[in-house]
Amino acid sequence: GSKAPIQRLADRVAGIFVPAVIAAAVAAFAVWFFLAGQSFQFSMLIFISVLIISCPCALGLATPTAIMVGTGRGARMGILIRSGEALENAFRLTTIVFDKTGTLTNGRPEVTDVIPADGVEEKELLRLAASAERDSEHPIAKAVVEKAKNMGLKLSDKIEFKAEPGLGVSAKVDGREVLVGNLKFMRRKSVRFESLENELESLSSEGKTPVLVAADGKPLGVIAVADTLKDNARGVVSRLRKMGLEVAILTGDSLKTAEAIAKQAGIGRVIAEVLPGEKSAEIKRLQERGEKVAMVGDGINDAPALAQADIGIAIGTGTDIAMEAAEITLMRGDLEGVPLAIELSRKTVATIRQNLFWAFGYNTLGIPIAAGVLYPVFHFTLSPVIAAAAMAFSSVSVVTNSLRLRKKAL
Ligand code: ADP
Ligand code: MG
Repeated sequence: GSKAPIQRLADRVAGIFVPAVIAAAVAAFAVWFFLAGQSFQFSMLIFISVLIISCPCALGLATPTAIMVGTGRGARMGILIRSGEALENAFRLTTIVFDKTGTLTNGRPEVTDVIPADGVEEKELLRLAASAERDSEHPIAKAVVEKAKNMGLKLSDKIEFKAEPGLGVSAKVDGREVLVGNLKFMRRKSVRFESLENELESLSSEGKTPVLVAADGKPLGVIAVADTLKDNARGVVSRLRKMGLEVAILTGDSLKTAEAIAKQAGIGRVIAEVLPGEKSAEIKRLQERGEKVAMVGDGINDAPALAQADIGIAIGTGTDIAMEAAEITLMRGDLEGVPLAIELSRKTVATIRQNLFWAFGYNTLGIPIAAGVLYPVFHFTLSPVIAAAAMAFSSVSVVTNSLRLRKKAL
């Protein structure tokens, strides 16, 4: 039910076109009948031919048929496009921003290292962290809890649980004030992790996310969590760059970790340590620099950024709210859909332009012939019958051109 912007152009043109055509037909009649002294029948046929040939149905079909074929083609590939506007605007994009966790990576992190601080037992570190993280829905929390369970640890009950988006969680376990989160979180709570700085540094540079654990204001240790890059992430990024697009990664994770993941994926631009609430502001900042931005994300955190972006692309395996906020949803959760959707948009817009060119061109050429400009020299007029056939032919050619989109290589 929505109209693509280029369709509005066609509508505007049609608004001028219709009165102009009626005026042209009347003028043609008047010239032949009053000035050239032709019969009423001859002049009337000219009048009718002009009206028939200029019927702008090809013009009206040019955009919607291409959009319909384009969105249909997308749907078959698992790319759901919300509106004609989205399909048409996707070709203007300059920058594609990927969320990290769950979008570029599989979103199922696993614990890789457990590094206790001096005098702390490994099991105690994990047990306290897992007890605090027990009910958190964050993928990192799930990894920690899973690891503790695999080691057969008995988790304690916790009270006063509090999750801080993009930072971590705090809770009271066995009467101790437990904090689990990133460095930013620990800084806010003024827990100093200097003794483990080297470990943090080296874990991050391997692309792992260090999860810092503290109790009663003292560091207990670090649990490293690593998520794997999706198989085709690198290929998708390189294809997007070949298409002339800038690619960036946007994450709440630490800069070091994000840089390591970005390097694995072949992404040069990193926007890290962004709190969930600030993701949309980062998108806005890019837009203010004149970039047309697509945001690709999957989580609840990403919804405002998806809505802020020129085109929001939701991974269909993610949350419902992400899909609700996005213009394009990739049902198969496959990143391959990002370059495909943009390519599809480019091809659709090219088809619309061809259609409009032919539709306009046809009318511009047809009207003078129907008005009888060839008659004085060649004694040729367009009979209304031929005009009607040509009219139908022009519509068929526009529809056929749109249908070619179904088979175009993407
Ligand atoms: P992303 O931008 O990758 O989706 P989030 O905004 O969800 O990440 O989280 C950013 C960072 O905040 C994580 O990398 C982690 O360091 C920290 N964090 C958030 N929630 C938790 C949690 N429940 N447990 C531990 N760390 C957390
Ligand atoms: Mg995420």
